[in-house]
Amino acid sequence: MNTTNILFLQLLSWQALLDIGIITASLYFLYRTLAKLGTWKIFVGICFAFLVFVLASLLNLEGVEWIFRNISHVAVLAMIVIFQPELRKIFEKIVSLYGRRKLGNQRATSEIIAETLWKLAKVKCGALVVIPGKESITDKISGGYTLNANVSAPIIQSIFDHHSPGHDGAMVLESDRISSFGVRLPISQSGTLGDEYGTRHHAAMGISEQSDAMILLVSEERAAVSMFSNGKMRPMDSPASIVDAINSHNQRIGFLGAVYESGTKIKTIAQIATCLVIATIFWSSLVVVNQQIIEKLITVPVEYTSPNTGLVLVGEKVNEVKVHLTGTKSDLDNLSTFAPRVTVVLNDMSEGERVVLVTKENLKLPKNITILDAVPAALEVVLAEIVQKTVPIVPQLVGKIPEGKKIKNIKIEPDTIQVLAPPDRNGIKTVNASTTPVYLNSIESTSVIYCKIIAQPSMQPVDKKWPDVKVTIELEEYKTQ
Ligand code: ATP
Ligand code: MG
Repeated sequence: MNTTNILFLQLLSWQALLDIGIITASLYFLYRTLAKLGTWKIFVGICFAFLVFVLASLLNLEGVEWIFRNISHVAVLAMIVIFQPELRKIFEKIVSLYGRRKLGNQRATSEIIAETLWKLAKVKCGALVVIPGKESITDKISGGYTLNANVSAPIIQSIFDHHSPGHDGAMVLESDRISSFGVRLPISQSGTLGDEYGTRHHAAMGISEQSDAMILLVSEERAAVSMFSNGKMRPMDSPASIVDAINSHNQRIGFLGAVYESGTKIKTIAQIATCLVIATIFWSSLVVVNQQIIEKLITVPVEYTSPNTGLVLVGEKVNEVKVHLTGTKSDLDNLSTFAPRVTVVLNDMSEGERVVLVTKENLKLPKNITILDAVPAALEVVLAEIVQKTVPIVPQLVGKIPEGKKIKNIKIEPDTIQVLAPPDRNGIKTVNASTTPVYLNSIESTSVIYCKIIAQPSMQPVDKKWPDVKVTIELEEYKTQ
């Protein structure tokens, strides 16, 4: 089956559709948030870098792939730090999915606000009113005075009266009540508004970029009312348009509602479609890359199970095998989770020589991976029956006797030991036992040295315990002629 067919079949599965759906939603969500905050260019940059990486993987450009793989961990950390405010906003949006704000007595309140602000505009009295959406804005605003009063024209007028000490700053509504006034809002950093607008406009823009709140602004210079939401400013041409704006804000105080502004539906659909295309390209290239057949050379350890009682493994033991494998990239990349190893099962073997082939079965490889070859391709194992025998203990003499002396006699007690060991092979003694080193340079006269026994692992003492060995070295004067 060729790659296109595999891709097509995989695209039809419900997992693929869900996968692409989630990636599209995440991309769109990220784009909307970053676009609102003016950081969308970074987002486009990341998408571009990502597409380069996907392309490099498809074309097998190992250098580019290597760079991306090695900087990706650092880049992820850097992005978390750079986008910390944006990430926080994303989580806030997710949390706000579960909350629904009380909408209050919308009609009456919106009409009072609209008429009062219109009147303030007529008399060139500046005002700023924040109507929060579903997200909390408490950590974005500061200062102000708590009021918690019903909305009424006299109160709004009093708050924004130039002679009132609390007229500076914004009034915040909560449901249909005035919760506070004289509140400081964050100033916009996005540069969306030009310098012809003053701090009041930039403050309104700032909070509209950082939250889903709607802001109504009365400009004292322009004698006009504007509405800010989602990082955009819209002029209000009548009290009725203000009422409409408040009511539609209240109605769409919901998660996706904030996205659908009148007139921008087509733009939104286009943005979602773009995210869908990017998600599908990303997903398909992942599948294509993972379906590529590649080869890999790995070194695996060799494990030997214990032989039956009375038998022992003799001769050289191979501890590693190099295997040359082929399979799909995704299968070979996930190989380490299978911890491949060659297992030589000795417990069903009888005495003698065997050849164990390195096969897919004893490597326990996943079914889609094939072995091309292995070095060594076969392991030779020799099992021998353990026999009881007497082995001589040889002293291990190191160095030379001091000048003028020579060894007259060496006595070892005991000089032999009873052991259980594999039999001699091909006439060659396969086992021997020696003492720990005896250093001759330090011996001046006849000495008694106590030593331990050094023996091969395949050899065990019949008495279960290795005895200490007493080595007596007798010296005599030695005259050179
Ligand atoms: P206008 O069109 O009404 O003149 P403007 O955009 O030109 O508005 P300024 O003339 O600088 O802005 O208006 C200053 C007023 O804006 C301040 O007196 C204060 O009431 C309000 N203001 C300024 N900064 C903030 C802020 N960070 N948060 C809330 N209100 C603010
Ligand atoms: Mg001004």
